[in-house]
Amino acid sequence: MRLSKIALILLLGVATLLSVAMPTRAQTELQATLETENDFPRALIFRVEVDAPTTLTEARLYFRPEASEFWNSIPVTIEPGAHIEAEYEWFTKNQVLPPNLKLEYYWRFRDAEGNTYTTQHEWVEYLDIRFDWKRLGDEKVTIMWYDGDEAWGRAMYETARQAIDALEQELGATLDHPIRIVAYANGSDFRSAFPPQQDWIGGQAFPDMGITVQIIGAGEYDWMQRVIPHEISHLVFHQALKDALATPPAWFNEGLAMYNEPGDFGEEERSRLRNAAKNGELLSLSRLQGNFGADSHEVNLAYIQSWGMVDFLIRDCGKDGLRRIIAELNNDVTMDEALQRACGYDQATLYERWLREDLGVEPPTSPAGESEPSPTSTPNPPPESAPSSEPEPPTGLISPLLLTCIWGVCCLSILAFLSFTLAIFFWRRGRTQA
Ligand SMILES: [Zn+2]
Repeated sequence: MRLSKIALILLLGVATLLSVAMPTRAQTELQATLETENDFPRALIFRVEVDAPTTLTEARLYFRPEASEFWNSIPVTIEPGAHIEAEYEWFTKNQVLPPNLKLEYYWRFRDAEGNTYTTQHEWVEYLDIRFDWKRLGDEKVTIMWYDGDEAWGRAMYETARQAIDALEQELGATLDHPIRIVAYANGSDFRSAFPPQQDWIGGQAFPDMGITVQIIGAGEYDWMQRVIPHEISHLVFHQALKDALATPPAWFNEGLAMYNEPGDFGEEERSRLRNAAKNGELLSLSRLQGNFGADSHEVNLAYIQSWGMVDFLIRDCGKDGLRRIIAELNNDVTMDEALQRACGYDQATLYERWLREDLGVEPPTSPAGESEPSPTSTPNPPPESAPSSEPEPPTGLISPLLLTCIWGVCCLSILAFLSFTLAIFFWRRGRTQA
């Protein structure tokens, strides 16, 4: 008998012995009574009542936002027994969470022998119950609003749906998770849905959770037609880059969002950029990589520059090139590498070519202006040091857009804060893959 055959027989023998010696641990699904109580914005309370064939000793609640891949896993103390009634209060009062978030949840129990029992999965919406929400949607997008009639809701829905179809085509990606747009009627309704924060925050996107919360009053048609495609661009962009580990630069994300707004950007914006270039005010490429800061003048410029670079990139490298960049970013390469592979140049070259060919100015002598801060630039102040009143309203054709931009800065700051908080939250409670 060959040695390998002997080894195989021995292995099978050991496996058989082990299977006899070790008790198998069952995983059983139990039908349970699951309930939630909405005490928005203070807390969402989860309750469960279940009967099991053995004595249960441990309980955990699992929940996740509709558009998230990852489960929050929360240990819940129980009195051991075969009949369990348990409760977990998710205290949300001090968290920046999107109102009307849709969550999937279930419970898991364990007995002393290590057998596990899971309940059925259920859904809950953590609604801002102060308002009577209407909704319209499909498998890709849901619009929620309370200010305005059905026709207004339909107009928002159609704007969103067109934007999604165009973006999926443009980015070569499909939405894996449905997205949600929550429209508040005015600033005070909007702000009261969140913990106290700066007055001038006018909208918040939560790409990780597939939801954006905006102020869109009934009949604000022009504004709605800009803000919805802009926000949807961020949400689709986030899902399109699901396999990318590196965060893409802000100029790319915000520039694309502006590029995807309907409207007549073009000569007026380019002439503003040429003026800024002539006055030596253009921001360096490095200033367009992350948070655009809180100085309204600089923020405006950062957004128009981002739009200008994306507009140039798409004219130069084509929409196919744009799709290749997204695909390359998903291969987990840097933005420079993705650009190089898709279009044959890196960010610094793109920036220099954009300055020369679109604005007719020579790039600064240092590479892409990296070491030459523009005369008006100031260090990025944290959101706390931002003005507490409305920023100076921008003027000109681009004004509503620039307001979005200022919002975008808030979104980025808040998102950074939120991501940090959530990361801590997940780690503390043991992030568990479904
Ligand atoms: Zn934005």
